[in-house]
Amino acid sequence: METKKPASTAAETSVATGATVKKAAKAPPRQVALPNYPSVRQLAELLSVSSIEVIKQLMRRGIMANINQVIDFENAVLVARDFGFEAVALPVKSTRAGARQVAQEDKAALQPRPPVVTIMGHVDHGKTKLLDAIRKTNVVATEAGGITQHIGAYQVEVDGRRITFLDTPGHEAFTAMRARGARVTDIAVLVVAADDGVMPQTVEAIDHARAAGVPIVVALNKIDKANANPERVKQQLGEQGLVIEEWGGDVICVPVSAKMGQGISELLENILVVAEVAELKANPDQLAEGVVIEAKLDKTRGPLATVLVQDGMLKEGDRVLAGNSWGRVKAMFNDKGKRIKRAEPATPVEILGLNTVPQAGDRFQVAADDRVLKELVQQHQAEKETTKSMSLSELASKISAGEVKELNVVLKTDVQGSIEPIKASLERLKTEKAKVGVIHASSGSITESDVLLALASRGIIVGFNTSVEPGARRQAEAEGVDIRLYNIIYELVEDVEKALRGLVEPSYLEAVEGHAEVRAVFGAGKGRKVAGVYVTDGRLHRSALVKVLRQGQVLHQAQVDSLRRFKEDVREVGAGFEAGLGVEGFAGFEVGDLIEVYRRERKTE
Ligand code: GDP
Repeated sequence: METKKPASTAAETSVATGATVKKAAKAPPRQVALPNYPSVRQLAELLSVSSIEVIKQLMRRGIMANINQVIDFENAVLVARDFGFEAVALPVKSTRAGARQVAQEDKAALQPRPPVVTIMGHVDHGKTKLLDAIRKTNVVATEAGGITQHIGAYQVEVDGRRITFLDTPGHEAFTAMRARGARVTDIAVLVVAADDGVMPQTVEAIDHARAAGVPIVVALNKIDKANANPERVKQQLGEQGLVIEEWGGDVICVPVSAKMGQGISELLENILVVAEVAELKANPDQLAEGVVIEAKLDKTRGPLATVLVQDGMLKEGDRVLAGNSWGRVKAMFNDKGKRIKRAEPATPVEILGLNTVPQAGDRFQVAADDRVLKELVQQHQAEKETTKSMSLSELASKISAGEVKELNVVLKTDVQGSIEPIKASLERLKTEKAKVGVIHASSGSITESDVLLALASRGIIVGFNTSVEPGARRQAEAEGVDIRLYNIIYELVEDVEKALRGLVEPSYLEAVEGHAEVRAVFGAGKGRKVAGVYVTDGRLHRSALVKVLRQGQVLHQAQVDSLRRFKEDVREVGAGFEAGLGVEGFAGFEVGDLIEVYRRERKTE
């Protein structure tokens, strides 16, 4: 961002190098504001001429560019001049002084920020290799001796513009983040091996990106292979609704070889084109916020978290909250392992100073002072509720209340042949209030990836003649994702239809089993907290689900993860007794909190 040149510098350069500049034009030239690195297409639009004309002018200047290619400002100025325009740079806000006074919603303070990219695709199609190849293209541009450290994300620089890549490829990680309420990725690069074509996980990745509303750039990989068949892949992509530009669609497809390092810069340039269209902006003048990408406990340094700054400027010394953890940023390191004092939007940084290890996907936020930090911690506990999944019956009531307009369904079937008829029947269902969106359909058993997708999209999973993998079942139960299994198509369609009409009875009932009061709070190592509780009625047991209530509000809802009496693990504690209670994912107990013990029961239909 500091590399932006003011218009005057660019103009001077062009005068110095451009031989064709005619002085003293008769009519005053029309003005056009150009972005720093316009694509050919964009430039043509700004100048109201066809892309072909722009390409021709560039060719005259010895520059071979295709329609998606970005060109530098100097050349854009010259081309603009060829068409009778005087080019100026788009205004860039540069004042960071008095930063913290700027109102958070101050639109004028918004500045372009680098895109954040995730690499997705089928296993073995070259995601990891591509991430490595991209990283290598950029070694020269970084600080001396900068060997990239693995911190979960890295940045590369292309012609002065940056791109942030998340280092965990695959749509599972991407959707797991979404499921935790974090939107991280701006652009998905879909890697498809040219020798293998569109495979099941390619389709999954497409659906996951679509469900998140993230644009896709295709990297057609392994074009160095003798049996590569790019045309076939393009056709298969078309069948999935990804129509590439060459064929009149709007999906950019770049042939690459991650192995030979071919096509990497074209890929990066095209990512920048898509980023430009998306007009990604952030305000570096405000307090930082973002998301945890990775976190671990370092033996000597304590909790280490890689966070992606999504907005604002993160500074050393800032008070941060990240999920259930908080602290002050004692030190920050970039992806080259270099200590830095501040981190701009879209920068991944490793931070030191949190009290516990947060989870990937946790949101982080900077607080102006300790009081705000405390409020944020409490607010965070309350917000966790809102990212919870919804069962079909909950969806039904939201639909009838007009709060949900689309019922998202992940459909799994026994065989490929059952997908189309079921999908078509579901998509035909419509009321004035809502319709069904089948966000992913494939054959096979229900996997964790399906559960994540349903969770992240607040949808349900419908299985026809199929089963649920054990891991997926555990996860669905823990997250409350509704999985419905059917053997008769008619019943499946009818249930979904009922939900659309808001008619489904709650299929889960919560039965309260007892209550306890928090009378003391203890540390239990690694940032965990255990509550000393007194069971007032009913019973508390090891496999119970509990709600932590404060002043009538549910702060947290999860499974018991430890239950002890006098340092001994116990199965159950009855009314009138005291116990030490740990609750999964919760460390925010306060004396006076109420614990409600409950059980979820599936209502028999
Ligand atoms: P991932 O599972 O998608 O992360 O795939 P990897 O990056 O691990 O690559 C799988 C295999 O394909 C490895 O043996 C790579 O060396 C190979 N591979 C990746 N990219 C290319 C390429 O462009 N050309 C060729 N010939 N092989 C590649």
